[in-house]
Amino acid sequence: MSQFAVIGLGRFGLAASIELMRLGNSVIGVDSDSKLVNTVSEQLTVAAIADATDESSLKELDIGSCDAVLVAIGESLEASILCVLLLKSLNVKEIWVKATTKPHHIILTKLGVSRIIHPEEEIGVRVAQSLNYPMMNQYMSIGNGLFIVEVEIKSHHPDMSVKKLLGKAGKDIEPMLVRRNSTIIKHLDGDFQLAVKDSLILSGSLTALKKIAPEFY
Ligand code: ADP
Repeated sequence: MSQFAVIGLGRFGLAASIELMRLGNSVIGVDSDSKLVNTVSEQLTVAAIADATDESSLKELDIGSCDAVLVAIGESLEASILCVLLLKSLNVKEIWVKATTKPHHIILTKLGVSRIIHPEEEIGVRVAQSLNYPMMNQYMSIGNGLFIVEVEIKSHHPDMSVKKLLGKAGKDIEPMLVRRNSTIIKHLDGDFQLAVKDSLILSGSLTALKKIAPEFY
């Protein structure tokens, strides 16, 4: 279990906080809007009404001892930057910041935060990739043009082997595992017989993954 702080509990900050809680962590949520804090107080470990540009408030909440802090202040560039400077002076090592504009991004780069997030652009790219490759329920980029994807087997086929599904692209795709109901099946060979509703996890380049037999999914 890690200890996180999320500064700014708008849609983005609150969604991140609730997910961190669901994953079993402890979360200090901070927002200057008292009404908002009161409505979410039950969902977080600590929900504090505070101005994140006020050093004494951050010290009182012991934000300096958090494993990581997510700054999710929306439109106010000034508040976001001031808060990051305070977190730096409190010696927080892992600072992730939501950025809204290019100047905001440039300043954050100069300040040296761990990660700058552009939620709308990042989601836009993900949605476009999912639209372009609808067979992929879930995917993860692992660099060098390689992806890990999840393909759900939807239709019956006379030969349901992994080899048949991958076809000619098989030499460039690594079948990693199959999830069948709650069972995980590893060490797949080409003759492994798939069943409808199986989730098959594969890795390979997008070009190779696009070639796999569409009649299966
Ligand atoms: P989203 O697009 O994620 O909903 P918002 O801009 O609506 O983003 O949310 C940002 C949150 O940050 C708001 O709830 C706002 O009250 C909070 N906030 C803004 N400035 C400060 C500050 N100085 N200290 C603490 N919270 C702040």
